[in-house]
Amino acid sequence: AKEQGKNNYQFFAPVLSSDWVQWLTLENDLRKALERKEFKIYYQPQISIRTGRVIGLEALIRWHHPEKGLISPAQFIPLAEETGLIVPIGEWVLWEACRQNREWQDAGYAKMRIAVNTSARQFQQGNLAQTVQNVLRETGLDPRWLELELTESAAMHQAENVIDILQQIKKLGVSISIDDFGTGYSSLNYLKRFPVDFLKIDQTFVHDINQDSDDAVIVNAMIAVAHSLNLKVVAEGVETQEQLDFLKQRRCDVVQGYFFSKPVPGEEIESMLKSMKSK
Ligand code: C2E
Ligand code: CA
Ligand code: CA
Ligand code: CA
Repeated sequence: AKEQGKNNYQFFAPVLSSDWVQWLTLENDLRKALERKEFKIYYQPQISIRTGRVIGLEALIRWHHPEKGLISPAQFIPLAEETGLIVPIGEWVLWEACRQNREWQDAGYAKMRIAVNTSARQFQQGNLAQTVQNVLRETGLDPRWLELELTESAAMHQAENVIDILQQIKKLGVSISIDDFGTGYSSLNYLKRFPVDFLKIDQTFVHDINQDSDDAVIVNAMIAVAHSLNLKVVAEGVETQEQLDFLKQRRCDVVQGYFFSKPVPGEEIESMLKSMKSK
């Protein structure tokens, strides 16, 4: 037993301590990333199924770490949430996305709604509605060109508080969407109480709609329920023509995915906007 204990120790200790050091280092780096301007926003187009036109852009953060290179949000957003750093980071994304959108509008390009992701923490800390109002005022962006996304699970966390804040944000004229829909545990009846405009069907359901009859049934049902609640449906993770055909046939409203475009830097969006005719 003693031998085993020793082995266990030898096996785990270095792993634990190096993980720990890495974690602390990353946290430390994350703290400095904002002032060092290491974050960048990529944008992914959202397409209206009916018109085939780009109607929106989802803002997705990227971190250009000075030594580690590009770090995906899946790797640092959880850390940012745990440390509370997501609050200033989220505010920066909101600010930068609105500023950029206003700049594109001022240049005369076709107007798009910009969708910004928010975390549960932003609803618990600070004053999100006030922040949104300030950002809109200072950037001069018309509220109808801003949309906030929050995940189904974030929406359900201290739901009464979330509903209250969403109502304030909605009053400003900003749109709201529930992200990763279908992955959480919200009852549809409860969802009625949230002042939302869009449901975003999680990409795990979209992935197999042409192969998995369960997923097809679920997506069908989600679209039907959303429409009965007067919500528009966005399908994300659309990668193939077959998926698009399915979604078109089922009257999904908006699609987003690699089939159209990956998230790309602002400069590439600008070229896309230039090539589109402004109304
Ligand atoms: P999400 O909000 O669900 O964003 C969709 C993710 O799916 C993005 O990953 C996007 O690049 C990816 N994606 C889009 N189309 C396709 C497709 O056709 N196929 C596949 N396989 N993937 C596709 P990304 O950019 O790595 O972001 C991951 C997650 O990080 C986001 O998931 C979101 O939860 C979080 N995130 C990103 N930016 C922010 C932010 O500014 N604030 C907060 N709070 N979270 C963010
Ligand atoms: Ca999202
Ligand atoms: Ca999503
Ligand atoms: Ca997701």
